[in-house]
Amino acid sequence: MKIILLLILIFNFKTANSSESEIFDIPVHELEKNAKAGYYNFISSDYQSDTNIDVIYYFLFLEIKTSPDFLLGHNRILTKIKKYNINSVFFDLSDNMTVDSVKAGNSLLSFSHLMNKVSINLDPPLNKNDYADIEIYYHGVPVATGFGSFVFGFHNVSEPAIWSLSEPFGASDWFPCKNTPSDKADSSSVSIKCDSSLTAVSNGILKSVIDNNDGTKTFSWYCSYPINVYCISIAVSNYAQYNSFFRYTISDSMPVVNYIYPENLQKLKPQLDKTNYMLNLFSNLFGLYPFINEKYGHAEFGRIAGMEHQTISSMGVFNDNIMAHELGHQWFGDKITCRNWENIWLNEGFATYCEALYNEFAFGKISYHEFIKLRMSDAKNAVGSIYVKDVTSINEIFKGNRSYAKGCAVLHMLRGVTGDSVFFKIMKSFSEDTALAYKTAITEDFQRVAENESGKDLDYFFSQWIYGENFPEYNVSWTTEKLSSSEYKASINLLQKVNTSPVFFTMPVVIIIYTSSGDTSFTVFNNSLNQTIEFIVNSMPLNFKIDPDNLILKTVKGEDIIPVSFSISQNFPNPFNPETNINYSLGKPAFVNITVYDVLGKNVSVLKSEFQREGNYNVKFYPAGIPSGVYFYRITAKDSENNKILYSDVKKMILVK
Ligand SMILES: [Zn+2]
Repeated sequence: MKIILLLILIFNFKTANSSESEIFDIPVHELEKNAKAGYYNFISSDYQSDTNIDVIYYFLFLEIKTSPDFLLGHNRILTKIKKYNINSVFFDLSDNMTVDSVKAGNSLLSFSHLMNKVSINLDPPLNKNDYADIEIYYHGVPVATGFGSFVFGFHNVSEPAIWSLSEPFGASDWFPCKNTPSDKADSSSVSIKCDSSLTAVSNGILKSVIDNNDGTKTFSWYCSYPINVYCISIAVSNYAQYNSFFRYTISDSMPVVNYIYPENLQKLKPQLDKTNYMLNLFSNLFGLYPFINEKYGHAEFGRIAGMEHQTISSMGVFNDNIMAHELGHQWFGDKITCRNWENIWLNEGFATYCEALYNEFAFGKISYHEFIKLRMSDAKNAVGSIYVKDVTSINEIFKGNRSYAKGCAVLHMLRGVTGDSVFFKIMKSFSEDTALAYKTAITEDFQRVAENESGKDLDYFFSQWIYGENFPEYNVSWTTEKLSSSEYKASINLLQKVNTSPVFFTMPVVIIIYTSSGDTSFTVFNNSLNQTIEFIVNSMPLNFKIDPDNLILKTVKGEDIIPVSFSISQNFPNPFNPETNINYSLGKPAFVNITVYDVLGKNVSVLKSEFQREGNYNVKFYPAGIPSGVYFYRITAKDSENNKILYSDVKKMILVK
């Protein structure tokens, strides 16, 4: 059993390093799904653990041994009592672990350990606002749930690599705790005693490394900021370190630390060097990095995945998107944590959107839109509401198409609804909201911030996109009418396919109308299943498009509508070599001739000479054996019955060799 596990871990690790080009194409949500997939049984919907206590502080001490694997630990948990006359409290701890004793100061407390709960008797009972300072001593070999809540593994064939990945329910597999995201500890300490050849990494700052003079060392980490229980992490191996500083003012800087397997460090350095750009970008967008008095860093681990442990993301893959994603989580996930798993999109949709923003700011708008297009195509396969209805299943919580891709699309759409400057104010205000920062949030908290900043009622937006299902499917059609020589009416009909919940989607929709003298765009508030909107324009409407900038997750049918008149475009590219394109529209069926002439009027090439139905067409010109220079192309469209010319036009183009 051990050998098989060992081989699997080595195989995973090798894959991470030998096929990076493949990994680069995997969306981050797929990678995280690797990490967070699986099932866990005892957590029921919206599990709150012991609601009589509020966790103040965890001080976790772990002694880790390999060959054989073994964990000896104690956790001192300081809690504040929330009710009167409480004569027992409980903490979550897997039945696989054995509790040796429970103490308050020097006094032993009686306890029971059943059904993954350690119930502790308090004598005398405690009252509201009293503190309970309890220390639980335990040992065992944690059994990993999810896909690795606590793993004794290897890298580079035989080097030990021990790591944790608790999200969502795995913390109690390896330490006693209040296992719910709704109660953050105000601060925490993790001390790890391990073989002195290894380095043990955790959250916050490294307070001390003590050589125990028995072949072991103890690494003591302290986290001064509030922390959710699933973000408390360890990573232990023979790490090489690669550090830099994030300079956030002329005189202030924060360490950026990377704990990397030695055999990978050299080739990862250029990738790790991108961290500072990302820290700077997100600090500008969302407010200064939330754990600025401590550190940010990466600890390599053996899953082909990333996990946003507070101040120290665990990474099995290093590329731009996964690094931006896990760093984005430090604001959205760690600083503000989803209060329950139903609202996981506040973590994963936001972190995925951070990838989009990284692409936008590092590589430009086209890169942003390409990223959004991919996430939208995933989001169309999302089943059920973004608000997770079955949180007993880890797979349901971390569904890539829904919590990640569609959650990201929702933020993209909110940006479309509010405009860029308001949207970025919303993101920053949310991150800095005093009721939410370093605490927890649900969708309604984000909605409140979005409504305050935008001055808009966004109930329709959040209720349909977060609690509703699917996306709008618009069936569009139009008619045009000439009112006078300078006024035309275009009537555009938006008919939505009937959905279950909501029945139809309410959204501002941008419509662009192409006329014979240019484009005009309008924003209409589409708030019914079947809506016709009339527009008055100054010249002949030729065509239209809805949502030209792809601001809405949607499908559109009927858009490539029949043109109402004849037209021919300027060729593109122009000047050109070796080929160019010409678009043309026929408002009626016609016999079409398109011919290219040189400056002397000599026929160079006939591009089209045939009967065509009304519609939009494209023709390519590939000149062969003609010199550089100016050429003309002429279109003639004739009524095929009476040979009358319906349309004729000439345009100039330039061939450059
Ligand atoms: Zn994530």
